[in-house]
Order: sequence, then C-alpha cells, then structure tokens
Amino acid sequence: MNSDKYIFNSEKQRYEVHRTSLGRRVGDVGVYILIGAAVFLIYTLLNGRLFAAPSPRQMVLERQNDRLISKIEYLSQRTGRQADRLGELEMRDNRVYRPIFGMDEIPSSVRNAGYSDPGRYAALAKFGNADFLTQTLRRQDIIEKKAYLQSRSYDDVEKVAANVEDMAKYIPTLFPVCPGPAINITSPFGYRLHPIFQSVFFHSGTDIAGPRGTPIYATADGVVADVKYSDGGYGNEVDIEHGFGYSTRYAHLLGANVVRGQKVHRGDQIATMGSSGRATGVHLHYEVFYKDAQVNPANYYDKNVDPKTYMSLVTPADKIHR
Ligand SMILES: [Zn+2]
Repeated sequence: MNSDKYIFNSEKQRYEVHRTSLGRRVGDVGVYILIGAAVFLIYTLLNGRLFAAPSPRQMVLERQNDRLISKIEYLSQRTGRQADRLGELEMRDNRVYRPIFGMDEIPSSVRNAGYSDPGRYAALAKFGNADFLTQTLRRQDIIEKKAYLQSRSYDDVEKVAANVEDMAKYIPTLFPVCPGPAINITSPFGYRLHPIFQSVFFHSGTDIAGPRGTPIYATADGVVADVKYSDGGYGNEVDIEHGFGYSTRYAHLLGANVVRGQKVHRGDQIATMGSSGRATGVHLHYEVFYKDAQVNPANYYDKNVDPKTYMSLVTPADKIHR
C-alpha cells in the first residue's frame, strides 16, 4: 500500500513527497475496519434472516410438510365425496332393496355409530393441525364402519333374494274359503259400525259368511302357531305363522283340523266355519298380520278365482298326512 502524499510547493514550483507516519497509517486501517464492522452489523440487524435462514435440510422438510398437508386436504375432500356416495347407497338400501324383500330398515342410529373410545384420536393432539387430522380420521373411521355395515346388509338382501321363490309360498295369497254363490264378504277390513255395539270401530280383518261347516284353508305355507278358544270374542281360533313377517288368524271357527306346531301348506284345510265367540252369524273372521300389525287381507288374495280351479289348489282335511 502506498499512502505517501504529493503536495505542490508553490514557492519552489515543485511537488514534494510527504510520508505519512506508521502510527497514522495503522489508525486509518482501524477506522476502515470499524466502519466495515458497523456496516456489517447494520446489515445483519436489518436482515435478521441472515443467521435464521433455513438450512437446506430444513427447506426440504418444509416443502415435504406442505405437500403432506395438501395431501391430507385432498384426502379429506375425497372422504367427503365417499361419505356422500355411501349415503346414496344406504338410502337405496333402506328405501328400495330391503323393503322389496320385506326387510326392516337399518336405523340411522346404527348406521351412523362412530367409535365411542375418546382416546382413539388422542395421539394426534401433539401435532399441529390436530383438529383437522382428528376430524379427517374420524370421518374415515365412520365411512369404514358404514361400508362394512352396508356390505353386511347386501349379504342379507342377497340371502333373502335367493329365497324369493320360497318367500312367495309364505305370503297369504289364497282366499281362505272356496268362492261360490253361498260365500259373501259381509264386512271388509277397515272402519265400520259394530253390529252389536252400534259404534264405529276398526275392523281388523275380513268377514266371510257361508254355511256352517264350510272348509277353511291355510292361505299360505307356515306353521300352526296356536289353536285355542279365545275369550276375547274370537271363539275358536287358529293362528298360522308364515315367516317373512306374515301371520294369519282364522276366528269364530266351528272346529279346527290342525294342532299347534303342525306344518301346513297353502290350501291345506285347517278348520270349518262356525259362529263361536262373539259372532252375529256363521262367518270366518280372517286377519293378515304383517310385522305384527293387521293389514287388509284383500290386498293379498284373489277371491274371483273360479271354484273348480280353487278346489284343484286345496287339500281336504282327511287327505292331509300329519
Ligand atoms: Zn270380523
């Protein structure tokens, strides 16, 4: 470094060399160092990030983290769409498939049951986004459970559908007596004026009047659930359990041709017409139950079948082998 200075001497009309002392020169350097340090300090203070700048590894992790969060968000959206789709399947299952085969709806309380264990998602609490993660995982769990339940329901429907031909045998489709000029429906199912009490009440079956001793036939396959004398007014009564939610009741009988526990086929003679119990005349009081409630028997039978055809479908009591 050459820090010598040349100064013009006007008297001597020439330049003279003025050597700067060593001490002075060292001092100058110190000033430069101080200024440099100050500039550096100000620079680092203004740019706090200088020392806090992420390491390359940190930057990689941050990028990975961003990607994972957007993946979770995507999964969460997909979970929502899956839940919607599953909801449609459940609705069709409850409203269409199960009713076709006479199966009960699966209550929503069962379908929507989640996990009751509160500790199940506790491990997620230590993460950032804990609420979001918990919510996503909970939804996923519910979908998993619902999908499992739905597949079980389809299994059940499949089983019933495979037996649908059998099922037709258990639906009470036969008129309980052979139609003919002497056979009349004297009181249909529904509200009517009671012949004895003269008040409006609900008639829970169909009354079919005919000659005393007219054979009465099982209207579908089943098992005789009861043969009894009913004090309530039905008199001699036979009840048949058909399965698939159906049962039938035959009341005011003269007598029964079957015993409790006996298997019967559609058209088997089970009783004869009478007026036992609280009856105004000889008639059969016939009820159809579906899922423990009386329904209109007329919705099931065809009473316009001709007598010859009818007789080809039935078996008299003396021809039935127990
Ligand atoms: Zn009746």
